[in-house]
Amino acid sequence: MKNFMKKYGYYLLAFTLILVVGISVGLGGDKKGGVPETPTGNTPTEQASTTPVEMLSPLQNAEVLKWFSDTELFYNSTLKQWESHKGVDLTSENTDVYAVLDGVVTDCSYSYSDGYCVTIRHDDGLVTKYCSLANLDNITKGASVCRGDKIGEISSSASFEANEGGHLHFVVSLNGVPVDPSNYLTLENK
Ligand SMILES: [Zn+2]
Repeated sequence: MKNFMKKYGYYLLAFTLILVVGISVGLGGDKKGGVPETPTGNTPTEQASTTPVEMLSPLQNAEVLKWFSDTELFYNSTLKQWESHKGVDLTSENTDVYAVLDGVVTDCSYSYSDGYCVTIRHDDGLVTKYCSLANLDNITKGASVCRGDKIGEISSSASFEANEGGHLHFVVSLNGVPVDPSNYLTLENK
């Protein structure tokens, strides 16, 4: 035994050392392996907070009749005057109007100028308003709506835009200020 230890003692020691080092590296490796998971897991959340919300189109196969304009003036053929346009006018053969995001109906109203309008409040300071609807028969103030729920149909109830025919006057507001809806959804002239 003594001879055995003399002969193989160093090997035994060396083997033990390798084993210990191996375990340490193994544990360290596990820790290192665990580290990248946290940033990877966080990345989608970080992206979500910086990427603008993508809305559903309020009309299927929507055609733009009049774009959003903050400063540039558009000619209003109904009123025969030049004016800015704080929304986008859309029309489609499919007359159904859909909620673009989940939210709560905060207002249902009628005015001679804008016709029948529905206002929906969403997360992150976003509010959408749908005007020139045919009626308010299937919508209730205070109701929760989901993205894609039908909230009405297009019409020419907005007398100030009556020359455009059946259409939706769609407004997106961020923190109370009207913004270009095309920042949130893909729109195109057809
Ligand atoms: Zn309009």
